[in-house]
Amino acid sequence: MSSSKGAAQQVDDFYVQLFARGKPQEVEIGAPDNDPVARVIETITESILRYAGTTLKDVELAQLLQPDRVLIRTIPPAGIEALTIWIAPRHVIAVNRGLALFVYRLARALAAHVIVRGPNDPPAPPESQTIGIIASLLDWMASPVRAPLVEDWPVGPRETKTAENFATSAERFVIAHEVGHILHKHLITDSAKVDLAKASLAELDKRPVEQEIEADVSGTFISIESMDKDGIDPRAAVTGIYFFLRAVQLGELVGAIEVDEAHRPAEERLNICDHVIGERYGSHAPVLRQWARSSDELLERFARAALKERDRRRLVAAARMDEVLRTTTWSMGQRDIARDTALLKEMQSLMSHSPSAVVEALAANLCDADTYRQVLQSASSVEALERDDRWRRHQIAHFIARYAPVPVKQCLGVRFPIMGGQA
Ligand SMILES: [Zn+2]
Repeated sequence: MSSSKGAAQQVDDFYVQLFARGKPQEVEIGAPDNDPVARVIETITESILRYAGTTLKDVELAQLLQPDRVLIRTIPPAGIEALTIWIAPRHVIAVNRGLALFVYRLARALAAHVIVRGPNDPPAPPESQTIGIIASLLDWMASPVRAPLVEDWPVGPRETKTAENFATSAERFVIAHEVGHILHKHLITDSAKVDLAKASLAELDKRPVEQEIEADVSGTFISIESMDKDGIDPRAAVTGIYFFLRAVQLGELVGAIEVDEAHRPAEERLNICDHVIGERYGSHAPVLRQWARSSDELLERFARAALKERDRRRLVAAARMDEVLRTTTWSMGQRDIARDTALLKEMQSLMSHSPSAVVEALAANLCDADTYRQVLQSASSVEALERDDRWRRHQIAHFIARYAPVPVKQCLGVRFPIMGGQA
């Protein structure tokens, strides 16, 4: 899928402008040559386009589905799953990187309990450990970051392979759904008609609900049949459909993925996809669903426990953040390095367990630039400033935020004044 440098630049500029609007943060647009997620998705897309091309009689459509007429990008975490836009003369499919990472890490957690273990394999990790990992993943998705900033934990090569299989099958359904929109000539936003100063992602992805259902229906059999054509067991495709929609359902439950008139709840969509499998494949359907059903049961059990664990941790973390921000003193003078280090260490651990409570507390206590200036101007002396609760809370929140992962800093806004008020 090659494209001239100019065309790629034009595509990236469009997304950068779309995301950067009003925000100071850097916008990272992933392309197959710089983002491994985009590279994997590009390979899947090539397979889907090869399959779709063979089913077409419409010459004009066949032209549109040539590999160099469909570009893949990954976009920063957002409330949508994926979005297809016409940037003449191509379609560009943009995939939510936060959701793609969530799907992959969720698969990695589940994989340890899915693989069949030989006598020489190490035992599966305790279920409580997996539930704890899923709770962290869910809580990162619930946070304003909307991406799982959990480091990849060590797993064996078979788990890694299984996780990759789950994740790529899931992405196959995402792309098959988007290609479904192109195939059916659905409403697709033309970038030339977008007012970038006003446009929102949800608006660009707006179309009648019937078209979304139609894309799910086509996406289901395109996923299954393109995989079959590539010589991969189509049961893996069905597993991917179930797994992706369950991941979206979890995203919806924690508020990371938005449901609207056209984008119906994932559970409703899964019922439709499952119905399509029964209708189209008849007596073969039960076999096709085999792997999907068993991993789905496992995921449902883990997810239920993980959601509870997430709530429990969040309560504890929110109470602790409240205490830290209420009771920690702050002065303009000498820093107590030992105390600062202990605080940061505690915050790191809290953030890995319950990031949403930490990030939300920081966001609520950081002053914006105007308020901060006001606080400084209204203080009659250094002592008065140190007695100002807003100033104290801001200094503490800022101190913690400075050492947070980059995406957290971006979410909180990098333009707030730094310690001591030097802008
Ligand atoms: Zn759609």
